[in-house]
Amino acid sequence: MQLTTHFSLEEFTHSSKALSMGDKNQPTPAHLVNLRHLAERMEAVRAMFNRPIEITSAYRNPAVNAAVGGVPTSAHALGHAADFHVDGLEDLDVAKQIRDGGLKFDQLIHERNRCVHISFDPRLRQEVRRQPGGPGSPVHAGLEP
Ligand SMILES: [Zn+2]
Repeated sequence: MQLTTHFSLEEFTHSSKALSMGDKNQPTPAHLVNLRHLAERMEAVRAMFNRPIEITSAYRNPAVNAAVGGVPTSAHALGHAADFHVDGLEDLDVAKQIRDGGLKFDQLIHERNRCVHISFDPRLRQEVRRQPGGPGSPVHAGLEP
């Protein structure tokens, strides 16, 4: 199912963990509403760079989220967050451009050697962070030390 011009529900629910569990990672109706909003916001990110975006992880239903060790309040578990790369660009450069680009977001995290994480939880706190040490490691304020 296509959510917006450039993003499909399949891209937003694909999860190797879910596949390995035999879980379809289907969103609840409320989470599907959030995923549509997320796709619309990701269109704005795409327009900022005018390049294709590769979504590496977005939605994780409660069972999948628990299996990857995510906290139940994770923006991924609610359909508010996407991990992604912009085709041909370094993640850190992408994060800097989004930070400075006037887009309203809740959290922007440069997960070093992994992805850019962005969430559009309606709180829209404009939090900018970095996670240099990999999944589960401490998260620090700002993109640079
Ligand atoms: Zn993430």
